[in-house]
Amino acid sequence: MKLYRIKKSNIDRNGRGLYATKDIKEGTRIIDYVGKIITKKQSEESEKFDNSKPIYLFNLNNKYDLDGNVSWNTARLINHSCLNNCDYEGQGLKLWVVAIKDIKKGDELTCDYGFGYDSDYKQFPCKCGSINCVGFIVREGSRWRINKKFKKILRVNR
Ligand SMILES: [Zn+2]
Repeated sequence: MKLYRIKKSNIDRNGRGLYATKDIKEGTRIIDYVGKIITKKQSEESEKFDNSKPIYLFNLNNKYDLDGNVSWNTARLINHSCLNNCDYEGQGLKLWVVAIKDIKKGDELTCDYGFGYDSDYKQFPCKCGSINCVGFIVREGSRWRINKKFKKILRVNR
């Protein structure tokens, strides 16, 4: 039995998300993140990655990227949350999604998309609804640039 199923998302109201079909323990590999392996040159030259942030583009090493924006990559449906319960992991040219905390059956699976902070961050609002939502899709370590209270939280945690 798969650990996830596709359902209309609570975060992305126009889209779908992945939901846990049973309780998942921290550290469990949930799904592979697959796609087309392309060279850096290809991703730099492709218009596909020009206008928006490369939501589905992963850096594999200094030669290759992975373009996960393909229909057979179910893991692309995982939404971003400021309080994510999953994270991307990889080795060599393989990527997968792992639980970073215990997840309850029925919970939506979420990742931190890892966007850096830059001038167009407002293009990507976050509607994750978590208590620490910063309002935009920006990686955890950069959220204090948008809202100073996150600086404090980071200090407490480290
Ligand atoms: Zn959020």
